[in-house]
Order: sequence, then structure tokens, then C-alpha cells
Amino acid sequence: EAQKETLGFQTEVKQLLHLMIHSMYSNKEIFLRELISNASDASDKLRFEAIAKPELLESDPNLRIRISADEKANTLTIEDNGIGMSRDEVISHLGTIAKSGTAAFMQQLTGDQKKDAQLIGQFGVGFYSAFIVADRVEVFTRRAGLGADEGVRWESAGQGEFTIENINKPERGTRIVLHLKADEKEFADGWRLRNIIKKYSDHISLPIELPKQHFGDEKDKPKEIEWESVNRASALWTRPRTDIKDEEYQEFYKHVSHDFENPLTWSHNKVEGKLEYTSLLYVPGRAPFDLYHREAPRGLKLYVQRVFIMDDAEQFLPLYLRFIKGVVDSNDLSLNVSREILQKDPAIDSMKSALTKRVLDMLEKMSRNDPEKYSTFWKAFGSVMKEGPAEDFANREKIAGLLRFASTAQNDDSEVVSLDAYIERMQEGQDKIYYLTGERYNQVKNSPHLEIFRKKGIEVLLLTDRIDEWLMSHLSEYKGKEFVDVARGDLDLGKLEGEEDKKAQEEVAKAKADLIERVKKVLGDEVDDVKVSHRLTDSPAVLVINEDGMGLQMRKILEATGQ
Ligand code: ADP
Ligand code: MG
Repeated sequence: EAQKETLGFQTEVKQLLHLMIHSMYSNKEIFLRELISNASDASDKLRFEAIAKPELLESDPNLRIRISADEKANTLTIEDNGIGMSRDEVISHLGTIAKSGTAAFMQQLTGDQKKDAQLIGQFGVGFYSAFIVADRVEVFTRRAGLGADEGVRWESAGQGEFTIENINKPERGTRIVLHLKADEKEFADGWRLRNIIKKYSDHISLPIELPKQHFGDEKDKPKEIEWESVNRASALWTRPRTDIKDEEYQEFYKHVSHDFENPLTWSHNKVEGKLEYTSLLYVPGRAPFDLYHREAPRGLKLYVQRVFIMDDAEQFLPLYLRFIKGVVDSNDLSLNVSREILQKDPAIDSMKSALTKRVLDMLEKMSRNDPEKYSTFWKAFGSVMKEGPAEDFANREKIAGLLRFASTAQNDDSEVVSLDAYIERMQEGQDKIYYLTGERYNQVKNSPHLEIFRKKGIEVLLLTDRIDEWLMSHLSEYKGKEFVDVARGDLDLGKLEGEEDKKAQEEVAKAKADLIERVKKVLGDEVDDVKVSHRLTDSPAVLVINEDGMGLQMRKILEATGQ
């Protein structure tokens, strides 16, 4: 009846397990944070499902997490009375990894433990981190709403396989028993556990309980375990900003983002008035492995009056800000709100535009106050920010101010030049922002198009990111300065060109009229026109694109797609 079976882990899980056990030795204690984070998520999910089905709470409505250790047996137990899992859910959640792109991600692993540890952080460790400290893990679980005899026991030694069988489990929720490795006994110590919980999980909004410590006579000890809560157990974002330490903000970030490095910055705001909500938004320090996967989850965790409603609510931020993590807690939405309702609700639109502004302001502030952090941000997310002007027309000037480019004022291809810095360095009489696009930095850097600019000491932005041409097709000016592609049309340098320059040019054109005719004849239909140019100082000739012609990168992209 128990239907015991042994199943193999998905290949990616095996790889993850192997990697984790061999690369996480310097930061072992995070396994507890991951398991508490899961227990908290499970309670959030139960509370949400119980809005429509209160009977799911059975006779046990007070959600909490309990952690206890048995020093003799060298085990550590984490128990919640949250949503639990059915047999099928156990098999898929604790036997596979559901994220799209996982297999490709695993292929990047090098075997170099340091590098791999970095990568794995980008991926998130989650439940499987239990095997950092345990050589055997048992999970006892029963989903809320199912009968006591539909409990499930899962067990694995973290190698290639796990066993699963049905058990009787009257209490709803999940109990995880870690059989600690012989040299990980410290995690069965009550004080050590209390410290780890305080350090990593104080922000968890439900009580995390440990057995009460009793001193003195054995006979005074109560028969039943008494539990005491060791964390603050209030939702972090509901507390006043001045009350919250940076470390608390950082740990909360790790809980909501599944990242285990610190965020670069955050912004915590309470909005009152027509719409009332609290938001806590974070900028991660690195890109997730699936930043460019279409189906990758994105968006904020949505709460309504402190009740968890859904993960990945994507209606609150535009696509180009999909890397932002955090929470929004609304006082106005109904507890029954669904993704479909979110899509139609005009109140969401105004929250979206307010939250978008918040993020852009937060980034602007970071760029001003901490350029080094900003450059970390730009390296991770710059290409995504470049999608901004096309998607978010209303904010394109603001977004443009956040962009960073390589330029002729720099000696390498690093994207560090802001448009404001460019404008500050403009020559007297210059009223345009010049740029050149191409496929590779080394190619554009040596382009003959730059000769005249170099001669006159005018800076040119060098754009070689695949998305740059697309970006520039959505930006026509910044702070009243028009963008000009130096490889297009008749180059008009305006006031930067003296009267003599112009005269000299006309004379050359007259003198070389014969040559031009001959070149035209030879090239025939290959070109639209042949002209005398003042662009060049050293090179004899250069190809120029028509003012209204398609850019070279765009042409290549279209050719590649067969158009
Ligand atoms: P993540 O938390 O990022 O989804 P994890 O590896 O931490 O990934 O957990 C995998 C999945 O296992 C969770 O998404 C959840 O569905 C399930 N799970 C883990 N722990 C619990 C628990 N205590 N109660 C219910 N479900 C759980
Ligand atoms: Mg998790």
C-alpha cells in the first residue's frame, strides 16, 4: 500500500548536488536559511489558499516554524504547518529543477570550484543545500486538504536517487529531518541554531520556534516540549525605515530573490493617499542566469494587507526593469485579486508608473552617490536598460540619463560615459551628440569616419552592443541635443566647421569632379552616390549610409533571419 519506489534525480539535480557539496564549504550555514525560507513560503501559500478555502487550516490556524535538534542522534529537524506537498509535488519539486534553461546553465560549469560557486549563487541553491551538512535527508509531508493517509515520506542520501512512499501523517505541513554529517555536529547545538536564525531569518514574518531551554533540576523539566519564538516575526516592510538595519534589508532580499549575495541598493516606501501601498524594491548585484529567457519568472511578490497573494507579479514594472526584486503590499486590492484582474485594473497602471519612477530614481541616485556600484550595476544590467527607451517612451529622457557608453574619450571598450559627461565635454559651438555603431570595438575605434572628429577633438560615442542600433532608433535627442550617426548622410558639423573649411571643400569638389565621375562609372549600381568628403584626413575613401537607410547592424540582423 505504501507504494515505495526509488527514483533517479534529474541529471541537472545530480550536477547541482555534486557542485553544492563541493563548493559551499565556506558558507555552510546558509542551508538553514534556505529551509526556513521554504517553510515560510509554504505558510504564505497556505494562508493564500485559505482565503477561498478556510477549511484548509483544519484545527491548526497558527502558522509557525519549529526547529529542534537531537544532539545524540545528530539530527536537525525543521517543521512547518504550511501547505505541504502531495506525492506528485514531492517528486517534481524534490527531484527535478523546473527552471527553464537549467540544462544549458549546467553546461557552463567548469569544474573550477571557485568559479562554479559563483555561478551556482546566480542559480540559487534552495532545498538541495540541505546536503551541504547532511548525508541523509528525510522529508515527511502532507498537503493541506488531503487525508492523513496521503502523507508522503521522501528520503535521499543526495547521490543519484531518492525513495518515496506513502505514510500516515495527521499533522498538515512538512517536516524535514537532516541526518548531519559526523563533522557537522555544531548544527545540532541550540545556541548555534539560535544565532543562525537571528542572523539570517529574523525578518521572516511568522514565528520561528526553538524548544525552551531549561536549567536546573531534571525533575523540574516539563514533560511536553515548550516552544519559544526566537525571531521578531513581523513583516519587515511594515516596519519604519529608521528601525531596520542594513543587514535586515539584505537578508530579506535573499529570501525574496533566492539570490545569496547582497543587493546593490534598495528603496523602501510607504505611499498614502488615493492608493495606499508599501513597496520595497531591490537592485541585485548580478544578473540571474536566465535574464534573457522569455519565460523566466520576473516581477514582485504581491501582498494585500500583509497577506501573500502571488510571486512574480509582473504587472507592476516594465519589462526592461525585470531584474528588480522585491515586495509590493497594497491596502486597496481585493484578497481575491488574480493575474487577469491585475492586467485590467487601472489602479495597477498608476502603481506601475509610480514604481517605475522609483526604480529610475533609485538608479539615478546610485549613479550619483556611488559610481563604482553603478558600474557593477551597468555591467550586469546595462543591456537590459537599453531596452528602456523603446518600451517606455514617457521615461526615455530619464532612462537616457542612466545609459553608459564607450567613447573616443576612453582608451578601452568599457561602457562608462554618460550622456551628461559627454555634454559637459562638448566643444564650443557643438550642439549634437555624435555616435558610431558597429560590430566590434576594435573595428569602430579605427573607423575612417572618426578621422575628422579626432582632428577637431570632438568626442564620439562608440556603440558595439547588439542592441545599440535598436536603442538609437528610439532616441532622437537628449537634453535638447540631437543624436547624429557619423556614418550616415552628409555630415553637417554646423558651427564646428569654419568658413574656410567649407570653402576649401567646395574647391576640392570642383577640382575633383572628373575623378568623381570616373569612380561613379566604375562602381555603377553598387552605390547610390559618390561625393567628395571632408570626413577623412588620412584614408582615401569611406562608405557612408544614406540618412534614411537602415543601419549596418540592423541589415545584418535581417539578413541573418533571411529577410
Ligand atoms: P525555490 O524555493 O526557489 O522554489 P527550493 O529548491 O528551495 O526552490 O524548493 C523547491 C520547491 O520545493 C519549492 O518551490 C516548493 O514547491 C517545494 N518545497 C520546498 N520546501 C517546502 C516546504 N517546507 N513546504 C512545501 N513545499 C516545499
Ligand atoms: Mg527555496
